[in-house]
Amino acid sequence: MILIDKLLYMQLFDFNFNKGSVWLVGAGPGDPGLLTILAYKSIKKADIIFYDALLNEQILSLAKPNAQLIYVGKRGNKKSINQLEINKLLINEAKKNKRVLRLKGGDPFIFGRGGEEALSLKLNNIPFKIVPGTTAGIAGLAYAGIPATHRDFNTSITFISAYGAGGEKPETIDWTSFSKTSQLIVIYMGLERINWVCSELIKRGRDKHENIAIISNATKQNQKILISTLFNCSKSFDKNAIDSPALLVIGKNVLLSPILNWYSTNKRNISFLKQNKKNHEQYNIV
Ligand code: SAH
Repeated sequence: MILIDKLLYMQLFDFNFNKGSVWLVGAGPGDPGLLTILAYKSIKKADIIFYDALLNEQILSLAKPNAQLIYVGKRGNKKSINQLEINKLLINEAKKNKRVLRLKGGDPFIFGRGGEEALSLKLNNIPFKIVPGTTAGIAGLAYAGIPATHRDFNTSITFISAYGAGGEKPETIDWTSFSKTSQLIVIYMGLERINWVCSELIKRGRDKHENIAIISNATKQNQKILISTLFNCSKSFDKNAIDSPALLVIGKNVLLSPILNWYSTNKRNISFLKQNKKNHEQYNIV
């Protein structure tokens, strides 16, 4: 360990992953380089790791050889473990005096059910710690060359989930207020509902020619960006054009993506979706 690492370890950060405790840790959206030092150290130290579908599984190779790795995510239409069962597993394993790691993609408190898990740990007197991770809606924008704020375009940014707790379209989204301004909106879990999202915005008055970026597999090697307009995406959308997981980003900031996109070595990974065309046109930066 070089000196700076030692100093960091000894003085600057508190690393006490005690037995019998649970850490709720965000691993970021994909690129392992986005792990925080706390996340990295906790993965190496954990006795048992419960992980999600969105986690970049390469990150699990950091775990110690005898650590138990348990998948608790949703995959396709297969029956998946429910939240109460996950809560129970965390509590039971902590009671066995293990160092329990609940590892999630992105940030545990952004559409990650971290709050529910933390509450159940609190109610059961299990010591816990929350380790924030970089949420997809921040890191994904950075890796797509879309500044989350830019003084010429926006003074606020909103994160929206297109799914309610029971899988329904959430009634609490205030589409009218999001349509009155041109502030930036980042929509999680929105790909399946892209027609609905874009139609609602247009219906309430948002400019139908406004740009939308769809960022798929953000920060991963297979990251792809599609740029289109609200109008195009409110009509039929070719679902084969892009893979899940994906973010929808709406606002003028999106215009900077073809210019600032620094991550894709292959510029062909940015494409423009043209009206009435199933196939999207490749965008090449000269
Ligand atoms: N806690 C996570 C979000 C979980 S909700 C976080 O903070 O990032 C799941 C949604 O997050 C996905 O449907 C997608 O909209 C978004 N997401 C997560 N990882 C992503 C990635 N690598 N690329 C694009 N979107 C991602």
